[in-house]
Amino acid sequence: MIIEKEFVFDAAHFLPYVPQNHKCRRLHGHTYRVTLGIEGEVDEKGWIIDFAAISEAMKPLFQKIDHNLLNAVEDLDNPTAENIARWIFENGKKVLPLIAFVIVQEGASSRAVYPGRQ
Ligand SMILES: [Zn+2]
Repeated sequence: MIIEKEFVFDAAHFLPYVPQNHKCRRLHGHTYRVTLGIEGEVDEKGWIIDFAAISEAMKPLFQKIDHNLLNAVEDLDNPTAENIARWIFENGKKVLPLIAFVIVQEGASSRAVYPGRQ
C-alpha cells in the first residue's frame, strides 16, 4: 500500500550552472509543493503509519529549507527541482525509511519525481 503526504514550503534559489542570461540564474523564489510517497504494510490498526507521525518526522528537514536560500543548504548548492527531490528523499529516508518516492512541484506546472530506486 502507498500513502501520500503533502508539504508546502517557500524558498529562494538560483541555478548556478545554467547560461548567464537564463532567467533561473537570477535569485528568485518559489512556493514548492512536496509529495512524499510512503510504502508499507497495513498493520492491525489499519494504517501504514500515522499521517501526523510523517509530519513530525519531516519537520526538522523542512525547517532547514523553508524560507531559506536553498543554495546555502548543505548538499544543495545546485537546487534544481530534481536535486531538491533527491535531497528530500535521501535525508528523509534517514528518519522515515518507508519513503518510496518524492515529488517536488516548482510553481504551478513543473514537477520532478524521484522514484527512490538506487
Ligand atoms: Zn526557480
